Amino acid sequence: ASFWPLAPTSTQEKLLGGLLVPGFDEGSCLSRYHSAFYRKAMARSPSPHLVKRLREHEALQRRCGPGTEAYRAAAARLGSSWHGDGDGSDGAACRYLVLVPYRGLGNNILAMASAFLYAVLTGRALLLDRTTSPGDIFCEPFPGASWLLPRSFPVRDLQNLTGEVPESYRYLVQGDGDGAPAPAAAASSAVPRRRRRQYVFVDLDHSCTYHDKLFFCDDEQRFLRRAPWLLMRTDGYFVPALFLNPAYQEELDALFPRKDAVFYLLAHYLLHPTNKVWGLITRFHDAYLRNADERLGIQIRVFDGDAPFQHILDQILACTSQERLLPDVVMQEPRHPPAAGGARSKAVLMTGLSSWYYENVRWKYWQSATATGEAVSVHQPSHEEHQLSGYTTHDMKALAEMYLLGMTDKIVTSGWSTFGYVGSGLGGLTPWVMFRPENHTAPTPPCRRARSMEPCMHGPPFYDCRAKQGADTGKLVPHVQHCEDMSWGLKLV
Ligand code: GDP
Repeated sequence: ASFWPLAPTSTQEKLLGGLLVPGFDEGSCLSRYHSAFYRKAMARSPSPHLVKRLREHEALQRRCGPGTEAYRAAAARLGSSWHGDGDGSDGAACRYLVLVPYRGLGNNILAMASAFLYAVLTGRALLLDRTTSPGDIFCEPFPGASWLLPRSFPVRDLQNLTGEVPESYRYLVQGDGDGAPAPAAAASSAVPRRRRRQYVFVDLDHSCTYHDKLFFCDDEQRFLRRAPWLLMRTDGYFVPALFLNPAYQEELDALFPRKDAVFYLLAHYLLHPTNKVWGLITRFHDAYLRNADERLGIQIRVFDGDAPFQHILDQILACTSQERLLPDVVMQEPRHPPAAGGARSKAVLMTGLSSWYYENVRWKYWQSATATGEAVSVHQPSHEEHQLSGYTTHDMKALAEMYLLGMTDKIVTSGWSTFGYVGSGLGGLTPWVMFRPENHTAPTPPCRRARSMEPCMHGPPFYDCRAKQGADTGKLVPHVQHCEDMSWGLKLV
């Protein structure tokens, strides 16, 4: 009953419904054109408008990317000073968004997808700071143009920029006087109103301020239009906030007629694991998952420390039992003879830093027979014990595991975890989310089916761009709602 891998029946399928362009060297990045062989079907198809805009954006990256005259000129201007007008204001000049991703790989991936959408919406070329590992574990997404920020980029130490730097968007907004409400802090700000900025830095760290978050209401006309260089630090998924900005509404509607698979489509366009990672993915899949009748992913992320916790194991078992994702076990050995074609098989892919949960689940189904007669096999690719983000081999395993989670049929994830968001989002799978335990007790209910496969935005704005006042941003439009796992978070549904 195995259906993996499927041979895509048409070029269109191999190119993921037009998301991808042909013409890349296939061998240098096998995952790009081979991923369709490992997927049943696209969970959502790209709209014709999205496909058109992606092609336009590729042309922009080619026109403006590293190695072009436009890039050289823009980088040289950055070395001097931008006076706030003039440079970059004519439509043909290139404008840039430099993304500085940080924290864990799941965070990085969500940041990359969000920044890419913002770059498409605002006509900026996206360049990626290469201090962290994404440049080593993903292929180049744009044909004929690199998305890696050249090492000669004049602004140094990008990883150390914070919202406190004079170039910060927060001071730009505070200095404006009208439109954005300026609290007392703005008046006392040491930053002169019309200082010479070489670039604008947008801090979207989860600790960013009210003024930083006004970025989400910026229509690009007012503050950012003329800034050729926008540098951005973010560790999360900010796409839901873009859907709250009236300036982008029409375009986003055309790009994504269905709002529940924005990350899925962006990730499949942008993120292609390098050959080494693809080897980790396909070999594990072929060895342990491919031949099962059904695959279940269980992603375990514990935020209270790396030691094993009984209440987390209890939560996993309660969730998979109550939601009928795994069969119950019986105490007696079954008396009936084995089925002719062999038992129905269920492969469970578990991921986590610890192997303790995996050992326990595996023992459960080794020690006892299932009530359904199914044969349950349990697998875990790695147990790294501790988070070591930034180390290439560690991050390669993390990416391989997120990707493998996305190759299952059903998935249980840990609330609050961007690792889990990426796993389910990549797979086009609406997860069962385990709520984050409090006081070391398994919550009741242990988990709940999410409303969509979209990631949760953890640090959303609480400001209504239209009304220009504070608001419950989970109530402004039907397709942006609060998350299942984080009551103040926002997600697309
Ligand atoms: P989050 O912290 O759960 O939101 O996810 P992140 O991916 O941003 O950061 C957690 C990091 O810890 C990952 O990127 C990995 O480096 C590591 N990690 C956590 N869980 C796992 C896992 O199940 N497998 C592997 N290989 N690494 C993990």
